[in-house]
Amino acid sequence: MAILVCGGAGYIGSHTVRQLLEAGEEVVIADNLSTGHRAALSPAVKFYECDIRDKDVLKKIFAENKIEAVFHFAAYIEAGESVIKPLKYFNNNVYGMQVLLEAMTECGVDKIIFSSSAAVYGEPERIPIDEGDKTFPTNPYGETKLIMETIMRWVGAAHGVRYVSLRYFNASGAIEDGSIGEDHHPETHLIPLILQVPLGKRDHITIFGTDYPTPDGTCIRDYIHVVDLASAHLCALNYLRGGGESNHFNLGSGSGFSVKQIIDAAQKVTGQKIKTELGDRRAGDPARLVASGDKARKILAWAPRFDDVEKIIATAWNWHRTHPKGYDD
Ligand code: UDP
Repeated sequence: MAILVCGGAGYIGSHTVRQLLEAGEEVVIADNLSTGHRAALSPAVKFYECDIRDKDVLKKIFAENKIEAVFHFAAYIEAGESVIKPLKYFNNNVYGMQVLLEAMTECGVDKIIFSSSAAVYGEPERIPIDEGDKTFPTNPYGETKLIMETIMRWVGAAHGVRYVSLRYFNASGAIEDGSIGEDHHPETHLIPLILQVPLGKRDHITIFGTDYPTPDGTCIRDYIHVVDLASAHLCALNYLRGGGESNHFNLGSGSGFSVKQIIDAAQKVTGQKIKTELGDRRAGDPARLVASGDKARKILAWAPRFDDVEKIIATAWNWHRTHPKGYDD
């Protein structure tokens, strides 16, 4: 039986597909290529260029392939944009999940592994954040992820679909061979933006806020390597195959790094001075987001490999310097 990967042409989806193939799994990808890249697709994989809001196409995929489980990466991800265009996010993310679950339940597919986000927590009650902590999103993006989790919970109770929801902290890095990596348009994430400076694509990086209640005044985040995020999906699949009940897990390293620390690390990795400018806070940014990843380690037997932020940045640098225009190179 095969795994259907919705959003398999995207950043985290494409890294997960690589690992599924390495593990000998059969993979089918559905992606509308709105933000994903055809060049990120593994040639060995059956690909449907389609939108998950199209139930007829999803049912066709389920009819043409024996699908054991769905990995769902197909969603919009920009917190800032979601504040300006909330309906875009509710439509693709929430309605997309509804249609996907309708098709799954109508076709008897009963396992789903879902890309959730640290954004479901909003401003955290305490650090490190535990899965049982209060969820109170501070932007529509995080709200959609929380609603998507809620939909899965109720659909699971009614129709027996089991799910694992993986709440990612800051996905970063690229596969070590540099063959796939991060390529967003526009790019909004810190590490790829910093690396645009030594690539000559940008003059400086603006630090969004230097008056946070943190040791150096800049925001602290938990940067987790995309290869480690991908491996958690395979652990989650094994967990559901072993009869595990529906559950949600933080995927983070447990260590926090400030924006300034990340810039310093990037200077070390690239060997170049990175020009910075001090800017205002970005709306909706919590001062500190660091996960406790203990639950995933314990229950999913997840064993992340990257525990060093310079090593993470080095893999990102390897991808960006060999693909300065992303997949257009
Ligand atoms: N950030 C920054 N300058 C930038 C982009 C991001 O200072 O040009 C900061 C941002 O405010 C946050 C951290 O870097 O504190 C990580 O931001 P990113 O967008 O990568 O991920 P997020 O934490 O929002 O998911």
